[in-house]
Amino acid sequence: MSVRSIVVGMTQTNCYLVGCDETGEGVVIDPGDNPERILAAIRQSGLKIRYILNTHCHFDHIGANGAVREATGAALALHPAELPILQAQGGAALFGLSIPASPPPDVELSPGQVLAVGRLRFRVLHTPGHSPGSLTFHLAEQRMAFDGDVLFAGGIGRTDLPGGDWDTLMRSIREVLFQQLPDDTVLYPGHGPQTTVGRERRSNPWVGGR
Ligand SMILES: [Zn+2]
Ligand SMILES: [Zn+2]
Repeated sequence: MSVRSIVVGMTQTNCYLVGCDETGEGVVIDPGDNPERILAAIRQSGLKIRYILNTHCHFDHIGANGAVREATGAALALHPAELPILQAQGGAALFGLSIPASPPPDVELSPGQVLAVGRLRFRVLHTPGHSPGSLTFHLAEQRMAFDGDVLFAGGIGRTDLPGGDWDTLMRSIREVLFQQLPDDTVLYPGHGPQTTVGRERRSNPWVGGR
C-alpha cells in the first residue's frame, strides 16, 4: 500500500492519498484546499479514487471536496453529525474566509463501519470532541490510523469551535485511540508530523503519562 501527504492551504492541512498497490484503488482523506495539486498527485499515482473521506468538516479539511469529487467521481463520505458544519462552509466565516461549497455526502458513515478499498479495510471510529462527528480511520492490518484534528504529535485538537467539547475530546483520546489502537499504530494527523499511539500515550503533555 502507499500513503502520500499533500500539505494544503493556509493552515497546512495534511491531505492524504492512500492507495492499494494490488488493485490500484485508493481514497483521498481531507482535501482541504489546492485541488490542482491534489489532482496532480492523484494522476501521478494512477490510483482510481473510490472515496473522499472527511475526518471532519472544518473549512481546512473540505475546501477541495467538490473539485476532487467532480474530477474523480469518488463518493464523499463523512459522519452525519458534521452536516451543519459542512453546510456552513466548515466555519470559514468565523475566520473571515470563504471556501467553495462542498457537495452533500454520498455516504453517511457510522462507527464500526468498515470501508473496503481494494485490499485495504478502513474501520470507522467515532472520536468526537474537536467536532461532533470527528472520525478516525483505522487500518488495523497496516497499523495506521488517520485521526484528523483529534490528537497530534505533542498536541490535541482545539475545543473552542462550535460543537467542540474538552471532556468529550479527552474521552475520545483516552478511551478510543489509547484503548482500541495498539501502541505501534502510526498516527497520521490532520496537521503536522506523524507520530505513534504509544509515543503520545507516554509523552503527550495534554493526555500522556498513563
Ligand atoms: Zn478541525
Ligand atoms: Zn484542521
